[in-house]
Amino acid sequence: MNFHVLTLFPDMIETGMHTSVTGRALDQGLISLETVNIRDFAFNKHKHVDDYPYGGGAGMVMQAEPIYLAWESVAGAMEKKPRVIYVTPQGKVFNQVMAQDYSREEDLVFLCGHYEGVDERILEEIVTDYVSIGDYILSGGELAAMVIMDAVSRLVPGVLGNEESAEFESFHDSLLEHPHYTRPAVFHGRPVPEVLLSGHHANIDRWRRDQSLKRTKERRPDLLDQAELSKEDIKYLKTLAPDSNV
Ligand code: SAM
Repeated sequence: MNFHVLTLFPDMIETGMHTSVTGRALDQGLISLETVNIRDFAFNKHKHVDDYPYGGGAGMVMQAEPIYLAWESVAGAMEKKPRVIYVTPQGKVFNQVMAQDYSREEDLVFLCGHYEGVDERILEEIVTDYVSIGDYILSGGELAAMVIMDAVSRLVPGVLGNEESAEFESFHDSLLEHPHYTRPAVFHGRPVPEVLLSGHHANIDRWRRDQSLKRTKERRPDLLDQAELSKEDIKYLKTLAPDSNV
């Protein structure tokens, strides 16, 4: 998985990505990261990459040409044109299914906007995917690109060390994950659920599945429609009061 990020703030991306799980994956060569400073492709002596919007109005707009040249520096030599994700509040809201889809690509290019946004003509020319990380406005696309790269990296084989971890995380099968506990066995008078200390793996698995169903019903009932549920799952869900708290 090779990430390429077209940005005005490469340091932000480099620092964020060279941390924790993605940092280790970069060190191990499981993923790679190329940051391209769009400002390096500015064609005026002041290195401006933005200008006033045609038609007037507030704010500045990122110009098409420097972005085109930055994209060309990445994609120009590639045989197959890569997917280019413009992170934007106007895109499809990112989710785990999209992360899985992206994890199958060899190269992913991200375009991070700033100011009021980007000249529409360059978007029409190079962008294949418009992706939002939620219904709110960020100052720039860098955090959004990092959110997506983090989620995608976790799905690249070897990145999590334990191959099973991603498989049981929330959203993997449209359910939220069960709660977790670690030592001590009693904290502030709250004991760990007894079944987890029993060593009975089938019972532990059933308990976790039930907790996962209960939690999803309580916090994200919309997900249950897409989940694959067994007869046992449905039976358990029916035992839950409609307003049960986790
Ligand atoms: N005027 C734009 C609009 O209303 O759609 C918002 C511009 S925003 C201040 C600057 C940049 O931040 C955007 O071009 C985009 O790259 C990024 N951005 C802001 N919010 C985002 C979100 N929710 N998801 C992904 N990217 C976002």
